[in-house]
Amino acid sequence: MSCPICQKAADAKYRPFCSRRCADIDLGRWLKGGYVIPGSAQEEDDPARSEDENPPRH
Ligand SMILES: [Zn+2]
Repeated sequence: MSCPICQKAADAKYRPFCSRRCADIDLGRWLKGGYVIPGSAQEEDDPARSEDENPPRH
């Protein structure tokens, strides 16, 4: 198995990564992606809702 970050041989200690650094990089990406989506989805509820309200039609 090779490190998904840098493609080097993985270290048993940091499987599937080759080093702590690569494990941290992957974790950082994961956390960013995981937190941004649910967090921003809730905050985007307000502008989306105002757009959904009845527009002033005359
Ligand atoms: Zn690596």
